[in-house]
Amino acid sequence: MKRVYIKTYGCQMNERDSEAVAAMLRARGYDIAPSERDADVVLLNTCSVRDLAERKAIGKMNLLAHLKERKPELVLGYMGCMAQSRGASLAEKQSAVNLVVGTQRFHRVPEYLDEIFAGDGDAIVDVAEESGSESTIKDHVLGTNGDRQVAGFVSIMQGCEMYCTFCIVPYTRGSERSRPIAEIVEEVRRLVEEGVKEVTLLGQIVTSCGRKEIRKKNGKSAFVQLLEAVNEVKGLERIRFTAPHPKGFGDDLVQAYADLPKLCEHAHLPVQSGSNRILKAMNRGYTREWYLRIVDKLRAAQPKIAISTDIIAGFPGETEEDFEQTASLMRDVQFDQAYIFKYSKRQDTPAADMPDQVSEKEKERRNQVVLEILNSGMARMHQKLIGQTVEILVEGRSEKAGKRMFGRTRTNKIVFFDGGERHQGELLPVRIERATTITLYGDIAIHNL
Ligand code: SAM
Repeated sequence: MKRVYIKTYGCQMNERDSEAVAAMLRARGYDIAPSERDADVVLLNTCSVRDLAERKAIGKMNLLAHLKERKPELVLGYMGCMAQSRGASLAEKQSAVNLVVGTQRFHRVPEYLDEIFAGDGDAIVDVAEESGSESTIKDHVLGTNGDRQVAGFVSIMQGCEMYCTFCIVPYTRGSERSRPIAEIVEEVRRLVEEGVKEVTLLGQIVTSCGRKEIRKKNGKSAFVQLLEAVNEVKGLERIRFTAPHPKGFGDDLVQAYADLPKLCEHAHLPVQSGSNRILKAMNRGYTREWYLRIVDKLRAAQPKIAISTDIIAGFPGETEEDFEQTASLMRDVQFDQAYIFKYSKRQDTPAADMPDQVSEKEKERRNQVVLEILNSGMARMHQKLIGQTVEILVEGRSEKAGKRMFGRTRTNKIVFFDGGERHQGELLPVRIERATTITLYGDIAIHNL
């Protein structure tokens, strides 16, 4: 049996694509290797969102090419976003590469590997578009290593048509394509039958799911109709979704946080910048004031809601004044979590050619300033949680934090606690006993559990 190791870079969508490829490979008679050392095939599922992610994957492939000099039968491949944007040039530049598969052709990987093992050594490159490919990411590898997996990911749409000027995603993931609601609900049902209690609905612009195909009903968008349908799945306890766009947070979605008991009290609301001038240059389609109104509405609808965001530091033309607007927005909103990125020039995106690119040193400085604001806010928030009892869904044992068990609150905070394997998959009340800036430690609130 040939063994395949898949290394994934980037976002949860990429993780999910890799999981689906692994499931398809298993169904075809391949085995999934736990590390590249044991593998006959190594596939890198790549990310193009920032330059660093691309450089990491190329560097990794160079190392694998050295390994292949000693083990010539080793098959090497690129999948995903960088495969899509660079195509055949990857195999031309790195002759050790046997396979390049784009974002709409993941499901063809098993048959291409069969061909490579049967063939003459020519590289296979497939970055074609395929209608209906959004429905091919549906297989899972739950429980195959004996664990009870309690949280599952469901890919509900692919592609992006927002065309933010900094972002490569519309070019690597194609136009927006959504799966039908009934198909998504069926996949959630199957996961629940396998023991999953929490699902995260995934898409590049998840809040756009179904907007082309499904009309609004009683003022509710297709995405909210989907949330309502998933909320009805018996045995499911929690619903999350990512990655949304703030423009997707209409009044119907805000109200869903009040109405749908399974929808977790967490909204990821990527703001990118606090300056209206920069938001316009980014083509984000909202203003600072509009964004702050959404935050207020969410907090009014669901007072327990945690809000996280993405920030880009040093977008081209960002002045000290613009940056100060981002810093003040961070202080005003008090985010529960934020992912802060230094602007990274992406080929063929409009921002790459904009004047007044910010120096690396200045981007780093701005990155640090925003990080400090975030960290001091998070530390204060975590201190306030001490003494409170929160519900966690126990996901497993951590490799870090003294190998404690850990679970996630509905507000998406990880809590470590001293527990046993019997707690895995359980919804447990824990009392927060101790907190650092980024970590919460709790005790099981009701003993004998
Ligand atoms: N769907 C989300 C939205 O548009 O609101 C964004 C998903 S994007 C793949 C994830 C994050 O990567 C973005 O929110 C942005 O902060 C960051 N990002 C994207 N392109 C970037 C670039 N060129 N440089 C730095 N960060 C970037």
